[in-house]
Amino acid sequence: MATAYVALGANLGDPVATVEAAFTALAGLPETSVAATSALYRTAPVGYADQPEFINAAARLETALEPEALLDALLGIEQAFGRIRAERNGPRTLDLDVLLYADRVLATPRLTLPHPRLHLRAFVLYPLADLAPDLVIPGRGTLAAWLPAVANQDIVRL
Ligand code: ADP
Ligand code: MG
Repeated sequence: MATAYVALGANLGDPVATVEAAFTALAGLPETSVAATSALYRTAPVGYADQPEFINAAARLETALEPEALLDALLGIEQAFGRIRAERNGPRTLDLDVLLYADRVLATPRLTLPHPRLHLRAFVLYPLADLAPDLVIPGRGTLAAWLPAVANQDIVRL
C-alpha cells in the first residue's frame, strides 16, 4: 500500500455537496481507503476569474493502485459527477488531481508527480497542511516553507 494525496475542487452546482460526495466516491475505489480528509475551503478562482468561487479540499488515501491507475480512477469519478471538460482552469463540477504518491517523482504525458503547481496554490497547500503539516514535497522542500508565498491568495476555511 502507498500513501497518496488527492486534491478536490468544485465550483458548479452545489460544490460543498459535491466535495463531500466525492470523499465517499474515493472511499469506494478498489484497493483504496480514505485515511483522512481535510477541512473544506472556499477560494477565489485562479486564472479565468469570471466564474463562481471554488470549494477545495484534500484527502489522504492508502492505495494499492499504481499512480496511473489511480489517475484513471479519479478521472472516472470526475466523469461520474458529470464534469464537462472545457478550458483549463475553467468551471467544473469536480476536479480531482493526484498531488503526491508516496515519494514518487515522475513526468509522463498523462501524469506529473508531485503535481507541478501544488506548491504555488493556497487552495492545495492549506488542505494538505490539515492532513500533513510536516509534509516534505519531493523536490520542493517542506510544505510549511511554501505557505508564506500563498498568504496573499483568497481562501476561507469553512
Ligand atoms: P487541471 O486539473 O490542471 O485544471 P485537468 O483536470 O483538465 O486540468 O487535467 C488535465 C490533465 O492533466 C489530465 O487529463 C491528466 O492527464 C493531466 N495530469 C498531469 N499530472 C496530473 C496530476 N498529478 N493529477 C491529475 N492530472 C494530471
Ligand atoms: Mg485536474
